[in-house]
Amino acid sequence: MCGDRHSPHELQTVCRSCGKALLARYDLEKGKKVLQKETLKVQKSSLWKYFSFLPLENDDHIVSLGEETTPLIALAKTAASLNLKKLWMKDEGQLPTGSFKARGLAMAISKARELGVKSICIPSAGNAAGASSAYAARASMECHVFLPEDTPAMNIKECRAYGAHVELVPGNISDAAKAMNEAKKRRSDWFDVSTLKEPYRLEGKKTMGFELAEQLDWKLPDVIVYPTGGGTGLIGMWKAFDEMEELRWIDAKRPRMVSVQSSGCAPVVRAFDQKKKESDFWQNAVTVASGLRVPKAFADYLILKILYESKGHAVAAEDKEIVRAVHDLARTEGLLICPEGAATLVALRKLVQAGIVRREDSVVLFNTASGSKYPDILSS
Ligand SMILES: *Cc1c(COP(=O)(O)O)cnc(C)c1O
Ligand SMILES: [Zn+2]
Repeated sequence: MCGDRHSPHELQTVCRSCGKALLARYDLEKGKKVLQKETLKVQKSSLWKYFSFLPLENDDHIVSLGEETTPLIALAKTAASLNLKKLWMKDEGQLPTGSFKARGLAMAISKARELGVKSICIPSAGNAAGASSAYAARASMECHVFLPEDTPAMNIKECRAYGAHVELVPGNISDAAKAMNEAKKRRSDWFDVSTLKEPYRLEGKKTMGFELAEQLDWKLPDVIVYPTGGGTGLIGMWKAFDEMEELRWIDAKRPRMVSVQSSGCAPVVRAFDQKKKESDFWQNAVTVASGLRVPKAFADYLILKILYESKGHAVAAEDKEIVRAVHDLARTEGLLICPEGAATLVALRKLVQAGIVRREDSVVLFNTASGSKYPDILSS
């Protein structure tokens, strides 16, 4: 935000001058010589194939659980019911640990390992803690996760199974972050991998943008609908689009970006409706879409900037509608997805109804985790 520069050879958190998020910058001209879009096709199906535009210096430091390119699945029946021509779901539920948090944490933990970190800490609404615990185990790091006490049981159990230290905190992710910061005062060796409090989870999530462009033959869709909590995926994809344009992999056309939140916690939607640059803290946040229970995103100013720039939208979905959409998609498309992902279908229905998304628009919905991680919302 302020233009101050920081070294990639040392551990970084946020900007030392202005306290905002740090964004990684690359020598794209140099990278272009190593990696061309034609050669991507023949490379293995993995997010690491974009290595020239990722922050690691040495590929020996990669910590991987097999981050395969996720499928872009056509939703033909859903498209027909909405009278749309082209509708896909990018299914991130097929990544290691069952959520797209694997992308960000594979990257952050690989880079942290490269820089000698032995111990990490993170506050999480659930899936980020699961992914941190798994990659930390793989990297032989100590992992301390701080979760709201009502986090879905599966998330708490997976962290414990991976051998993480689990701290349950009354309240939401903001309360968990407060508890972590308190505990961190006594532990100088903990490296904090909270959303956008270090620069590299964003770089992992950025690869969704690369993959999507490649899968659509370098033509981005007209509309992307994304379930937004901390906003890393949205900001990361937007960054990928800018880098790909600079590499001349794509043209200047951008999708309209749509943020979806739950009506039980919709700070970005409220700020968007009020045309504000930042969001206000959302009191008493409750929703079954636990990944969206973020009362105030650290980089809300970046999320909102992208929504305005892309002529996008922000839409809230009711929990009841979300749970129904989970079941609809399972029955009609054979996809058992997470409530956060199902919220994108609820939002799309509203946008079609309002005439904002039209028949000719190509649309991509993001499913961010596997439905198997949320057994409690499925009817018995
Ligand atoms: C974390 C999470 C989100 C929100 O992701 P951001 O990129 O932080 O906005 C959405 N869905 C699921 C399942 C999540 O775990
Ligand atoms: Zn700064």
